Amino acid sequence: MRVLLVGVAGFIGSHLADRLLNNDHQVIGVDNFNTGRRENLAQVHEHPEFQLIEHDIVESFNLDKPVDWVMHFASPTGPGKFMEYPIQTLRVNSEGTRCLLELAHRYNAKFFLASTGKVYGDPDLHPQSESYFGNVNPNSPRSVYDEAKRFAESLTQAYHRKFGLDVRIARIFNTYGPRMYSNNGCVIIKFITQAINGQPITVYGNGSQTRSFQFVDDLIDGILSLMNVKFHKPVNLGCPEERQILELAYLIRKLTRSASEIQYLPLPKDEPQTRCPDITLAKKLLEWDPQVDFLTGLRQTLDHVQSQTAANSTVMIDA
Ligand code: NAD
Ligand code: UDP
Repeated sequence: MRVLLVGVAGFIGSHLADRLLNNDHQVIGVDNFNTGRRENLAQVHEHPEFQLIEHDIVESFNLDKPVDWVMHFASPTGPGKFMEYPIQTLRVNSEGTRCLLELAHRYNAKFFLASTGKVYGDPDLHPQSESYFGNVNPNSPRSVYDEAKRFAESLTQAYHRKFGLDVRIARIFNTYGPRMYSNNGCVIIKFITQAINGQPITVYGNGSQTRSFQFVDDLIDGILSLMNVKFHKPVNLGCPEERQILELAYLIRKLTRSASEIQYLPLPKDEPQTRCPDITLAKKLLEWDPQVDFLTGLRQTLDHVQSQTAANSTVMIDA
């Protein structure tokens, strides 16, 4: 298959590119390097089946050859990034999604949308299944991401209904792993970075809020499985093991053998108290279930962060 993978230089996009190339597919990667990094592409750069197009996908573009899939993984992701780039976030998920849907329609390609568990907002149903409509404040600072993804899903469904476009929508829950960037605000990478630098670990509120974290390799397995089934409605992809944020802070401090203090800061406005996927549908449809144990995933993430930090770091992993 030839795959147009948009957001290829990002955390998830670059892992997906690796896997597609390893599975003998061709990848035409697109990125404008807004939040992505060139070093994420170091391992595929010279691959004969990889091609890179630098482009901002809110502007339409043409290809010189047809593709089998258009995969949309371009968007600022963590709160640190989507609040820094609110307009870009809204545009890439609205105008950008439309450009890519048009492209898929023109080339008779299948379309894959990376949506998010954040479409459920601050949920009053727990855990969240695909049939739940969510609880999103359309005017909160977080809405630039949540509402943009809800629009992207709606537009994707409209192309499916109107033109019969063969679409997939993955609602991705909090994902972590190597190649996440420390400045996107996502809690795992932020806590690791704080801990290894001896800075205070910043827990919002009293840390009793919960999230569920999936390792990136499990997510990629789920994405590849979803490509192989003809199912056009959204599917949750996440790990249903729920953790309190304070527990996470202590775990990362122990793992890094850090002496960082835990610093309590006010809870930002409209922060969801909980988020946990109901993955009954994915289990049944894809025969998929997250496999990577949390400590194993955290250690791999930590290894990656350490390999990127100064060689004189004295941090040790608590094996
Ligand atoms: P990321 O920021 O690492 O990657 C996004 C990539 O898209 C970057 O390389 C960026 O430069 C590129 N990009 C952004 N705007 C663009 C534009 N206008 N034109 C071209 N390229 C553009 O984010 P990620 O964590 O890899 O997330 C990938 C996708 O998965 C996003 O759609 C995100 O919303 C979704 N998602 C991620 C998570 C997570 O936990 N990481 C959870 C839910 C959903
Ligand atoms: N969080 C925290 N301290 C931080 C960053 C995040 O306590 O410095 C908490 C935040 O309150 C939330 C959780 O970690 O409950 C996950 O935050 P993240 O930004 O990673 O993802 P999201 O809230 O978008 O799920």
